[in-house]
Amino acid sequence: MRQKIVAGNWKMNTSIASGLELAQAVKTGLEGKSLNDVKLILAPPFTHLHAIEEMIKDSPLGLAAQNTASEKSGAYTGEVSAEMLASAGVGYVILGHSERRKYYHETDELLVQKLTRVLEAGLTPIFCIGEELEDREKGNHFELVKSQLKNGLFHCSPEDFAKVIIAYEPVWAIGTGLTASPEQAEEMHAFIREELSKAFGVEKANACSMLYGGSCKASNARELFAQPNVDGGLIGGASLQADEFIRIAESF
Ligand code: PEP
Repeated sequence: MRQKIVAGNWKMNTSIASGLELAQAVKTGLEGKSLNDVKLILAPPFTHLHAIEEMIKDSPLGLAAQNTASEKSGAYTGEVSAEMLASAGVGYVILGHSERRKYYHETDELLVQKLTRVLEAGLTPIFCIGEELEDREKGNHFELVKSQLKNGLFHCSPEDFAKVIIAYEPVWAIGTGLTASPEQAEEMHAFIREELSKAFGVEKANACSMLYGGSCKASNARELFAQPNVDGGLIGGASLQADEFIRIAESF
């Protein structure tokens, strides 16, 4: 059985005070609910991580960072290392989000370094891949996703790969209100799993949790999560409201 996961990427939103309120509202909203073994993860900004960890440590919620440094430590002003994140109580790190790839020019090569740091620190990577609209319109989306997988993940040992969560996020669906149809999501997730099978074997591929991201909300999560290869969601905008986020997790 693959772990079902719903992770909320808060991006650069909330103050520490309003972030704590949001985390508290999610925590309280979950009390007494059985979510069918769905793991809920919050990914607030760096500045909030430690305070939120203190607040949620006695709850089933997981904590993720949205990014980390490619280097281990040293003279890298402004960077936050994976070891620092581990020491703040973080369990997961989102890597290669399309906003990082696009606005901060993160390349597959850089992401390989970041992935190594995250695994060294004993953290779980949530590795994002996905095509731009142009790729899909030209019919290049499978090739593009395949190259992101090959360049970003296929160097992993099977043991390291077993720790990776994948998030398929078509860039044209992120923050746009456009969602991939359940069929489009399933088609790509099945393709990814097939490629993972070729690289790491069927068993490892079948054990990998694969999240869909891109304008996922309570009103469309049920259909998306009903797809056999969709194991949950990476949620942006809709994770900023506790009740909506919880309703998404209840969609399984
Ligand atoms: C995201 O940023 O990972 C995301 C899926 O955003 P949204 O849900 O807002 O489209």
